[in-house]
Amino acid sequence: MRATDAGADPRHVILPALTEVHVHLDKCHTAHRLPAVGGDLRKAIEAQANDRSNWTADDLRGRMGRGLAELAAAGCGQLRSHVDWSDDARAPLAWSILQEVAADAPLTVQASPLLGVDKLAREGLADAIGRQARAGGVLGGFVLDHADREAGVRAMFAAADRHGLALDFHVDEGLEQGLDGLALIARVAVETRFEGPVICGHACSLMNLSGDALRQTLDVVARAGLFVAALPTTNLYLQDRDRGTPDRRGLTRLHELRAAGVCTLIGTDNVRDAFCPVGRHDPRASLALAVMAAHLDPPLGDHLPMITTDAARALGLPKVEVDGATTADLRAFDAGSTDELLAAPHPPHALEDLLERAEP
Ligand SMILES: [Zn+2]
Repeated sequence: MRATDAGADPRHVILPALTEVHVHLDKCHTAHRLPAVGGDLRKAIEAQANDRSNWTADDLRGRMGRGLAELAAAGCGQLRSHVDWSDDARAPLAWSILQEVAADAPLTVQASPLLGVDKLAREGLADAIGRQARAGGVLGGFVLDHADREAGVRAMFAAADRHGLALDFHVDEGLEQGLDGLALIARVAVETRFEGPVICGHACSLMNLSGDALRQTLDVVARAGLFVAALPTTNLYLQDRDRGTPDRRGLTRLHELRAAGVCTLIGTDNVRDAFCPVGRHDPRASLALAVMAAHLDPPLGDHLPMITTDAARALGLPKVEVDGATTADLRAFDAGSTDELLAAPHPPHALEDLLERAEP
């Protein structure tokens, strides 16, 4: 990608509006009121579930609105947020509140239901949820070591195909041996010739594979055309627990995936909730963290597609390049280089404002 310096002013870098591929606006900004945050993924799920009694319409409206405003201020033009789904076909309150706050927000919002793949294996449920996701949503699920994971994944692909939806998975979010969700999703995608974009978030346990087993998995993931999103904040916080100071990072194999031809992404995931008590809604900050955690070396411009053009493609949105874009689709960052772009906390400008100020 080309990060274009803005004409006579070397202090600006112009980029397509950023794309945030993975946040949880229903959970964000709750850490301060959770009594027992800390622990692994399962403890985080429990702690967050205990907070759900606080999720009134006003509470959701306030926190989701805040998250959206933070993402817009960070330079995002589009995003996907997961929303915890109930055990049956009824949409949760957070689903409709997200649509309500998104209608007033200056950015495109996609919603992805989040529930266990074992539930999605139940007769008719994936189809019923998929029908409700047709208005601005995608079909999503959580795949770990569930007994019925293959039936659930197949039901999701069938429902997504029927309703013309993209797919989004939280998959293999753990470092334990034997997690095979990523390879399963890839196999089903190849077998069904699924055409919509599929994002697989986490895939932490890919770190357990090497040699032929790794090569075979990378090969089928590449053939399936899956997008793999690393989510460094939450993975660094939740993975490799219970052994004192962690020495496994919990991120997926970004380098090996790329070398195999898989399109990789970076997402922000949890912001100040039971899954990650710190952080902020800013794709630049998430990419900067990935630079350190996954050793993404300069030139840093090579990594920007993970939060811009490739990220937009993964959401099924048109690719916006700087050359030929409308000003509304671009953002101007106060930076003279890509390292300054990722290090500096200054919020970007709308390009129209910058051009207006530059006029004599
Ligand atoms: Zn997530």
